[in-house]
Amino acid sequence: MLDEFAREEKVVSSVPSGLFIGGAWRPAETGATFAVEDPSTGRVLAQVADASPADGMQALEAAAKAQASWAAVPPRERSDILRRAYDLLLERKEDLALLMTLEMGKPLAEARGEVVYAAEFFRWFSEEAVRIDGGFTTAPNGEGRLLMMKEPVGPCLLITPWNFPMAMGTRKIGPAVAAGCTMVVKPAEQTPLSLLALAGIMQEAGLPDGVLNVVTTSNPAPMMEPMIRDGRARKLSFTGSTAVGRKLLEQCADQVMRTSMELGGNAPFLVFEDADLDVAIEGAIQAKMRNIGEACTAANRFYVHSSVADEFARRLGERMAALPIGRGVEDGVVVGPLIDAAARDKVASLVDDAVRRGAEVVVGGASLDGEGYYYPPTVLTNVPEDAVMRHEEIFGPVAPIATFETEEEAIAAANDTDFGLACYVFTRDLDRAFRVCERLETGMIGLNQGMVSNPAAPFGGVKHSGLGREGGRVGIEEFLETKYVAIATKS
Ligand code: NAP
Repeated sequence: MLDEFAREEKVVSSVPSGLFIGGAWRPAETGATFAVEDPSTGRVLAQVADASPADGMQALEAAAKAQASWAAVPPRERSDILRRAYDLLLERKEDLALLMTLEMGKPLAEARGEVVYAAEFFRWFSEEAVRIDGGFTTAPNGEGRLLMMKEPVGPCLLITPWNFPMAMGTRKIGPAVAAGCTMVVKPAEQTPLSLLALAGIMQEAGLPDGVLNVVTTSNPAPMMEPMIRDGRARKLSFTGSTAVGRKLLEQCADQVMRTSMELGGNAPFLVFEDADLDVAIEGAIQAKMRNIGEACTAANRFYVHSSVADEFARRLGERMAALPIGRGVEDGVVVGPLIDAAARDKVASLVDDAVRRGAEVVVGGASLDGEGYYYPPTVLTNVPEDAVMRHEEIFGPVAPIATFETEEEAIAAANDTDFGLACYVFTRDLDRAFRVCERLETGMIGLNQGMVSNPAAPFGGVKHSGLGREGGRVGIEEFLETKYVAIATKS
């Protein structure tokens, strides 16, 4: 046990705790720090630098200064840096996973999975860096030629959330590096350690000074707003809540900045009467319980055909009740703590609200006492449409089930939301699968599977779930401008 604690402390203390600006680590100008907690115990893990608005501007200055020279670095060199960083991430997977589990709470097996997922964005974009192309064509009337070329958009501001502390960073940093952009990254206050560790790795991989700058702060609004309004940053890429995304869009309007917005979700999970129930239950566990339900793609509303709803609820309840709960670092744990007391209390109040409105508890349904912010896996049936959890992200291990009779009804219920990030569809009927997929208002669909994330696929949403896509072939386009040259030719 002592050995385990010693290892935890060693991993945490190996992470630089300062601001990473212009290739150097330094404290905040005021000397201020803020605490990072382990959500499984409430214990303080580390103190990290608390950047002021002036620190933020220095980071932007460093990024702006490095932009021209970085854009001139050959694509192959940019690609090689990402590839080396990919190798280093995999080499240090165990320590990085432990670090992530400590600051965020997810079980170690999932943290290992996230390190690999995060690294894969670097491998993918190391491959894309050397495939940036433009175009050349003859003007339709034959008079002149048209040359299209791609250029980096310029210095970028990248803001990431706490739920995937490393992958939400590499999904932005990878394409920015590949495209030749410099950047300032602001990680989430609750989980800055993973990205600070990543900054060290990028430096080791040979990233030139000033290309990547990382500023941690306990007060993001006054630091980010002047950076956004300054004019030197040409792009903002944000992953987080729709409420904050909306505010940032307003701020970006001033300088007409490019934006990518990966915002909230409210994913429906549809199980048709012809679905393979074994597959649907497996998919439900994955879509609901990955990251303890704290994922933007988490299944938030289950709609099950009435003929199979009882069996689905019973089997899902049995599986959920059997999942081991505990500190993510413990062997076999599948359900870690939620990120903080406010998150746990929000989940509890959503469940209480649904029960008050008539929902029935199959398993779970009450917060767990003791240290750490635990909420047990919970399955509810007969959840009415007016329950608040049908319209808000639960962000916890709660599966609310309602029934439907017809395909039309299922599609209408799925689309009855302002969000449109992910949907899950379970059916063995190919015609139905196409019909339903084509009519769902969403950016991503898991068809007979409970997971959509893949570095090679375009991740993103429609409606209030965001703008733009990350990953896949289009991921790098978000960091590129198209310039066109009209060429006069004589025939
Ligand atoms: P959040 O409160 O919106 O915070 C996200 C990030 O924005 C954090 O770094 C936060 O800093 C920062 N921030 C907050 N207010 C800001 C402001 N006024 N100006 C500039 N930055 C500001 O979201 P969260 O609770 O961390 O993350 C959960 C949300 O993210 C959920 O809605 C989830 O669906 C969404 N999400 C979406 C995706 C996707 O790809 N679509 C992926 C993951 C998560 P602090 O940490 O200091 O507050």
